[in-house]
Amino acid sequence: MRIQFCGANRTVTGSSHLIEVNGLRLFLDMGMFQGPRDEARRMNEYLPADVRSADAIILSHAHFDHSGKLPVAVRAGFAGPIYCTPPTAEVARLILEDSAQIQVEDAEHLNRRSRRPDEPRLDPLYAPADIPPVLRLMKRVKYEQRTDLGNGVSFTFYDAGHILGSAYVILEWQEQGTGGAAGATRKLLFTADVGRYDTPIIRDPHPLPGPVDVVITESTYGNGSHGPIDEVEPQLLDAVRHVVQTRGRLIIPAFAVGRTQTMLWYLEKFAREKLVPPVRVFVDSPMGVEATKITRAFHDYFDRQTLDLVGEDRLFAGDRVT
Ligand SMILES: [Zn+2]
Repeated sequence: MRIQFCGANRTVTGSSHLIEVNGLRLFLDMGMFQGPRDEARRMNEYLPADVRSADAIILSHAHFDHSGKLPVAVRAGFAGPIYCTPPTAEVARLILEDSAQIQVEDAEHLNRRSRRPDEPRLDPLYAPADIPPVLRLMKRVKYEQRTDLGNGVSFTFYDAGHILGSAYVILEWQEQGTGGAAGATRKLLFTADVGRYDTPIIRDPHPLPGPVDVVITESTYGNGSHGPIDEVEPQLLDAVRHVVQTRGRLIIPAFAVGRTQTMLWYLEKFAREKLVPPVRVFVDSPMGVEATKITRAFHDYFDRQTLDLVGEDRLFAGDRVT
């Protein structure tokens, strides 16, 4: 087994790792590097040469820094399966369609800048028309269902509790050859991003199913610490109450995917538990609205607290959210 780190090494974003095992070449994630436009352009044009003939891409979750280069790989000729969970396929569609628009705008920006007249115009890394071919390659695999990749290699997704549909990956294979280790089962854990316990809506990370031989992990927040999660709710409730009492308006900047739904969840909880009077909530982002609809559709992926909160109702179904 060989590992090649193709991104997110000595930096964050651009996650992609090539695993060569038993004659298969498998990519774990195909993320976009995020940084200054010029540097990002240079980094994101780069693809490992053998991506065209890779056997599969296993996608841990939909975030851009894990999925954003899928259209670059498909444009370069990759035509194999892209394995992901059902919610990841939906959220990735949203993120990639948005990203395609940004790629077009970024190329326009770089072309507008003063350039030598003999310099060729830059094409966008990909455009909206490049997204449907990516989506057609997606194979939806549920958590805890082992998928056989052939040559004695298989993988299983487990809930990583990071965003809707996020997974960590256990890759398993039988050692080949005639040496002493031949026939032995080996396991590689790719954690990708692992979520916190007790976050709203999604479940906690699934416990590891057993020992593994190799771990590839992310360390984005490895050197920092977040405040306790149980302080979030009272702080937000205080702010909402203050605004209601003073008849003001509360503006909450939030990422469209994940954070917007978390905020809506808290606001819905406050209203259902009659901690605040019913107030109107506006989501001023088409992408945020779309991500909220996708979240609502994956009822089976909710944690116990959310199922108890909504009962027979649908999450975010109130007429207060516009
Ligand atoms: Zn992530």
